[in-house]
Formats: sequence, C-alpha cells, structure tokens
Amino acid sequence: MTTLNNEITFASLNLAEPIMRAIIDAGYTQPTPVQAQAIPLVLAGGDLLAGAQTGTGKTAGFTLPVLHLLNAKPAANPRAGAPRCLILTPTRELAAQVEESVQTYGKYLSLKSLVMFGGVNINPQIKALRGQVDILVATPGRLLDHLSQKTLDLSSVEILILDEADRMLDMGFIRDIRKILALLPKKRQNLLFSATFSEEIKTLSDGLLTNPGFVEVARRNTTSELVTQSVHMVAQKLKSHLLSHLIKHNDWKQVLVFTRTKHGANRLAEKLNADGIPAAAIHGNKSQSARTKALAQFKDGTMPVLVATDIAARGLDIDMLPHVVNFELPNVPEDYVHRIGRTGRAGSSGAAISLVDSEEMQHLRDIERLIKTQIPRVNIDSFVPPAHIPAEAPRPPRPQHGQKRHSNTTAASRTPREGQAASRTPREGQAPRNSDATKPRQPRDPQARDQRSQQPSGQPRTGQPPARPRPAQPAEKLLSEAARHQAMPQPALFSPRPAARRGK
Ligand code: AMP
Repeated sequence: MTTLNNEITFASLNLAEPIMRAIIDAGYTQPTPVQAQAIPLVLAGGDLLAGAQTGTGKTAGFTLPVLHLLNAKPAANPRAGAPRCLILTPTRELAAQVEESVQTYGKYLSLKSLVMFGGVNINPQIKALRGQVDILVATPGRLLDHLSQKTLDLSSVEILILDEADRMLDMGFIRDIRKILALLPKKRQNLLFSATFSEEIKTLSDGLLTNPGFVEVARRNTTSELVTQSVHMVAQKLKSHLLSHLIKHNDWKQVLVFTRTKHGANRLAEKLNADGIPAAAIHGNKSQSARTKALAQFKDGTMPVLVATDIAARGLDIDMLPHVVNFELPNVPEDYVHRIGRTGRAGSSGAAISLVDSEEMQHLRDIERLIKTQIPRVNIDSFVPPAHIPAEAPRPPRPQHGQKRHSNTTAASRTPREGQAASRTPREGQAPRNSDATKPRQPRDPQARDQRSQQPSGQPRTGQPPARPRPAQPAEKLLSEAARHQAMPQPALFSPRPAARRGK
C-alpha cells in the first residue's frame, strides 16, 4: 500500500486498543486514504457512500470502525443466529476475503464472525447460526436460502454494509437486495461501497442512505504505479497460440487471463496445460473447493496462469500481479479498467496485454474512448503461428455492443453472462438450485425465466435499446497517466499463414 495519507495516523483514529494491536500485527503503518476518510465517519455513526474499489484498503475502511462500534456497545439482547452487522458481497471469493479481514482485525476481540455463500454445503452454516454470530458476511442468494429456512434472524442488524454494490447490481442482485433490506430493522447504520457511481447506484443509495458522508478515492495505482498497456492484434483462432508463446518466450511467472465466457476459460486452461503451461480456470460453474484451490495455487506461485471470467475475478486481491491478459476484450468498457487494475500494484510495474481480433475493434474503440487514450498496438515478431490450426469452434454470440445489465432491467431482458446464465447455471455467489438447500425452492420468477429462455441471446428486447457505456471517473484518472508514456503504432493483424506474414 503506497498511496497513504500523510496527516492521519491510526493512532489519531481512536480505535480500541485490541484493534490497534491487530493493525500493528498486520504490518500497517498508516491508514490508506479511504481508511483515513471513512473510519471517522463510520465511528460517528452516520451512513456512508464510498467510492473505492478492491486494492484501496476499503475492507479495513469499514471493518475496523465496525469492530470498534460493536465492541464498544455490547448487544442489548444477544441471541443465537442474529448478527448485529451484515456485510453483503457479490461473490463468494470476496465474501471469504472480507470475513478473513474481519477475523484478522478482530482477533483480539470476542466478537464472532461467519461467512456464508452458495456452492457449499449449507449444514455447517446452519450449525454455526445456532451460536453467537456478531458479523455475518454473505452473498445474497445463500442469505435468502437461510431466511427461507428460518435459520437466520436479521432483526438485530445494527449496521448494513453493501460491498461492491455496483457489481451486485450488474449481477442482477437488486431484487434479492431489496428483499433482504425489507427484513432489516428500520433503524440502522448503512455503508455503501462501490467502484463506480451509475444512476442505479444513485437510486439505490438515495433509498438506502440517510444524510450520508461521502468518500471517494482514486485507485491505488494512479501515478507512479504504472500499468503498461498494449494491444496485440491477432485472429481469434491464433490467440491461444500467441498466449502460450508470450508466456514461454517471456518466462511469465504469474498471469491472470480474462476470458469472456466460462466455457472459453475452460478451453483456454486446457490448451495451456496441453502446451506445458500449468493453468487453472476459475468461474461460477466451478465448485467452491476447485476455485479456492486454484486461487491458492495461483497466489503461492505454483500455478502460473489463472484463467478467469470477470465476475469470478472480481474482488480478488492478488498483490504484485505482474501480468494481466485480456484474451478477449470485455463488452463493457468499465470492465477493462477493473481487469487491468489487478496489475501495477504496490509500486511494482505491471503489464496489461490485450489480444484483439479484428471483430473486437468496436469494443477496443469504446475502451479507448472511456480511458481517453489509444492503447499502443504492438506486433510480436518472435511469434510464428502454427501451420495447421484446427477449425475453430463457433463463438458464442456477444451481447449487443456495449450492453451492460442494469439493475432495473427484467430478468427477461438480460443477456446471459457469467453468473447470470439464461439456462440453469447457478448464479455466482449463489448455490446451484437445490444443491444443498434442504427444501426445494421455486424459481424466483418463472414467467421471466421462460421469456428469457426464448429470447435469442445477444438481442435486446423490442423497445429496450442497449445501454450506453458510462464513463467511470477512476478509470480516467488511472489511465490518462499511463497513456502519456506510450507511443501509438498502427494496428497489425497476425496472419494465420506464416508464409503470407513473412512474405510482407
Ligand atoms: P482491499 O482494498 O480492502 O481489498 O485491501 C487491499 C490490500 O491492502 C489488502 O491486502 C490489505 O491487507 C492491504 N491493506 C489494507 N489496509 C492497509 C494499510 N493501511 N496499509 C497497508 N496495507 C493495507
């Protein structure tokens, strides 16, 4: 963590001594900007709207003051399975990370925390809810499972935190969130953290927050921690070959690769493994244990390549990641910024490499418009495409260009994407239906589901124009700086035929 606020110290924040001890154990010397601004506001008991994303230290920004508040004022009426603080997150990984932070910072306190998400057996969670739970970190789907089984009591919640609220809305959790909000006590403190501020976030915060304090911080890698961006123009069917070449030729040790689909992630991981490069895929259809294992191996350096979809990778905090590869460009320009924000952290240099097929040019132009810079096109002269390439499997259709799911769209109007499949794929952060719930659950909106399954993917419904991409301020701040350091060569497209390319 290098972007620190020089004036405010942890000591000046007046956190309880056991929390200070845990902060020292964690090795933190100074609060990050979001911590310096958010902690006093939360300690004062008010609502908060915070613009900060993973990597800024936001988790401690809400966890530290929440621990302090709960510790300072013991529960009026302690009951089993009735948390005093509820933290909602969009993904399982983020939920696990947040709860780990709660444990880290609360290790000298007697407060108890619990994490719950889908894709794992519900019974241990039910058992844990029979005891004391002060802080509950949960994904919305599994939380609703518990509520329907009456294994969880939300009537004691004093503090609600929506973490990565923009991503929760993107993932279509708005109805689940509203159901959960309706079950909370009216009098409570609300904290909303979001990386971007869309109209939907404003609507949500207007309904949720009362006279909120406002905090907004730039990303961690704004100025000195530069991300070097480049685009390699390459035909889709050559991308996996080029990626293997880049990893081997440059001896890359830790690469996070983004694909657009879960299937694509699997296929690419298989291909890399076949090329002798250990790789694992991580996405919403993988079991939780497979995801946890892949992430642990990637973090400890035993698995050099992790292939992920956007939602699976969201919220992962992997320090010092040297390389991020966009195997395909995202449909939503803001996702590009989220993706490349995984590298160039903590003062280390990072590279974000995009493999772009000519069909993706419009997506590239949209990204460049958002970040207000042209990403250099770089030719890889050392790459010689293989002479024989097997026929390419047909590509799944992309959603309408620039289209992003919005919280106020109906299920029927959404395009299928990670965590939001049009079929029976379980939603990210949510258990596969009936997989581990003790009672079968009805589809939430059978009519919408039927309509959705008839809707050709990638087509907006009649009368529903595709959403326009919206500019995200942190993106501009992050990338304009990097752009100044880069030249702008012309695009070049790798030919599938080596002879033709060499003949030029
Ligand atoms: P977050 O944005 O909450 O995901 O945090 C990103 C990383 O920053 C985590 O690995 C934290 O351990 C680390 N971190 C949080 N606060 C500080 C701090 N004040 N000083 C140094 N590192 C920190």
